[in-house]
This record gives sequence, structure tokens and C-alpha cells, in this order.
Amino acid sequence: MELVLATGNRNKVREMKAVLRDLAVTIRTLDEFPSAPAVVEDGETCRANAGKKAVEMARWTGLLTLADDTGLEVEALGGRPGAWAARYAGDGATYADNCRKLLEELKGVPAARRGARFVTVVAIADPRDGVVEFMEGVLHGRIAEACAGGGGFGYDPVFVVPSLGRTLAELSLDRKNAISHRGRALGRARAWLQRYHARMNLSGRGAAR
Ligand code: IMP
Repeated sequence: MELVLATGNRNKVREMKAVLRDLAVTIRTLDEFPSAPAVVEDGETCRANAGKKAVEMARWTGLLTLADDTGLEVEALGGRPGAWAARYAGDGATYADNCRKLLEELKGVPAARRGARFVTVVAIADPRDGVVEFMEGVLHGRIAEACAGGGGFGYDPVFVVPSLGRTLAELSLDRKNAISHRGRALGRARAWLQRYHARMNLSGRGAAR
């Protein structure tokens, strides 16, 4: 069975491959489909964007496809930036621009009011049936007062995991995956894919997918 990871984000690909590494599935990435069209992420929610990416790439590649979309909800900002986290500091914003803007907006906000959560929605789509499953993973934490750590990507340097007293950027990839929003959603996806694979083999449809 083959599975396409519908993301151009190499950091996400590394995290996804690590969680799915022991599955009896051949992982394909978008590097292998250079003429694939870019999917416009114009949904209002992570669920809409993840579903859209998975469905469009499943249809394009003709293969079972997994996509994720992640939002960052900050308590003191009334849940912003939410599903708009990538463009929080404007179109073309870098990870550093977004982290800087978040730290500036939260300047002077006390630790007790710096709560935040990451929400990842994973969608799996089949070229014939569209989205066949959604999975969600959540990580609660708080926004740091300054960046810390050189690992991870995106908002990881400013997202503190309270039980560890560290930012996500201070954790190894496996440690981040063990607790993170994406790791949790992907763990559910892995279990679903195992069942799907077994069903396909039983029905003799494995080779066709
Ligand atoms: P998207 O899922 O690619 O749309 O991500 C939205 C925004 O959240 C982007 O700015 C990402 O860099 C950021 N982001 C996504 N996943 C993570 C993560 O695991 N840690 C930190 N930032 C993330």
C-alpha cells in the first residue's frame, strides 16, 4: 500500500515519517510529484484545509493521501491566530516574524494568562471516495516570554510545554512527536491505516490502491 504525504513542509514530513516508520506502507512525498498543483489553503478551519489538501492530492496522484493542518489558539488573543497561524505576521511571514509578532502582542501579559494550544487536524483521502477519515490532536501549553531552543519549526521556540518546563524547540523530534498535537493526530492515523491495510488485504483490493 502507498501513502502520499501531502505537504511541502520538510519539517512536517520528517515528523510524519518518524511516526509512520513502522507501518507496512510505502511513503511517497510531494518531491516525487513535482508537477502537482499547489493547493490554496482558503478554508476557515484546519479541518477544511486538511480535507482540501488530502482530497486534491489524492485525486492528482491517484493514491491514498494524508494531509495535516495546524492552528495555534492563544488565550489572551481570544483564540487568534487560529487557522491563520501561517500568515499571522502577514503574507510571506517567516517563522521568526510570526514568533516575534506573538511575543510583542503578549508583552506584559502575565504567565497565568499566556495559555495556548496547538490543534492539528489530519485528513486521509482516497482518490475515489474523497476524505475517508479525520483525526485530531491537541497540545496545551503557554507562550514563553522569549524564544528558546533550536529544534522544531514554526512557533516551537515560543511554545512551552508546562509539564517539561521547556519549549517544543528544546525537544528532540521523537520527544516532540510523543506529546505533540501532530504526534497525537498521527498516532491515531497510524492505527487507522493499520486497520485499513488489513481490510484492503482481506478484500484483495490492496494492489489497486
Ligand atoms: P500549517 O499547518 O502549515 O497551516 O501551519 C500553520 C502555522 O503553524 C505555520 O506558521 C506553521 O509553521 C505553524 N506550525 C504548524 N505546525 C507546527 C508545529 O508543530 N510547531 C510549531 N509551529 C507549527
